[in-house]
Amino acid sequence: MISSGYRGRFAPSPTGPLHLGSLVAALASYVDAKYHQGTWIVRIEDVDAVRCRPEYTQQILATLESYQLISDEAVRLQYEHTASYEAYLTQLKQSQNVFPCNCTRKSLQAYSGLHPHVCQSTETQPHSWRLRTNHEEYHYQDLIQGAMSFADDLDGNHPVLKRKDGYFSYQLAVVVDDHLQGITHLIRGADLIDTTAQQLHLYHLFGWQVPQIGHIPLVVNQDAEKISKQNHAKPIPNGDLDTLIRALSYLKIDAQNATSITEALAVAIQNWKPQRLSQQTTTVIAPKDLHF
Ligand code: GLU
Repeated sequence: MISSGYRGRFAPSPTGPLHLGSLVAALASYVDAKYHQGTWIVRIEDVDAVRCRPEYTQQILATLESYQLISDEAVRLQYEHTASYEAYLTQLKQSQNVFPCNCTRKSLQAYSGLHPHVCQSTETQPHSWRLRTNHEEYHYQDLIQGAMSFADDLDGNHPVLKRKDGYFSYQLAVVVDDHLQGITHLIRGADLIDTTAQQLHLYHLFGWQVPQIGHIPLVVNQDAEKISKQNHAKPIPNGDLDTLIRALSYLKIDAQNATSITEALAVAIQNWKPQRLSQQTTTVIAPKDLHF
């Protein structure tokens, strides 16, 4: 029964099927939400139609369902909400917190692809829209990693909010959606820690309440790279208890004696102690868990 005001979400980008690392992230957000008697929502972050594929969306949802990870509300597909992102971008244009940018990949090569200055660009040429950052320090108390502080212009960059090809960026869409969906808790992988300050900057510009944020250790391979299909992480099988037990072990939950998926999830919710994951930003995957 849902009774608390807690609202959490899992927000995968459908660029491939779920692998063990993404199952761990899904479970962390789900278990934390259920531990708090909260609502858990799945949102498909498919704003980038170049990298995202509808067949992966279907595959991801089917895999989540096979592990009984079912969204408490209708699954939100970001590509259906571009009008909202446009409206909030317009607001940022009006307040002059974004600027048009005609720079090309080539012209930014000298800055390793970053965009450290506000350029003299025009809206009459093909342009992206970049966030004007202020070199401001943002502090927040990460529920898992502890006290954090970052500048909003990570590496001196002005991040893109809308690309030249017309697609919105993750940064804008994630903040707008978390706000519009009333998300109170973000539990996600530590690969997103670095971008949090830019998101806090957007919350600040819009005057929105910042959710509680917790970053779980990212599952990485032996070379400390995020596991992904590029480095041969295999898709996980659907509805496999052994895979679920392994995924839970990365969250420091021992569900080895569970005899069903329902039971393993119940054990996880009962024994959820995110503090056990604290101050560790990566966890190395066991080689056997890379391949199924
Ligand atoms: N869509 C992002 C990803 O798949 C995650 C967004 C988030 O949890 O903030 O990496």
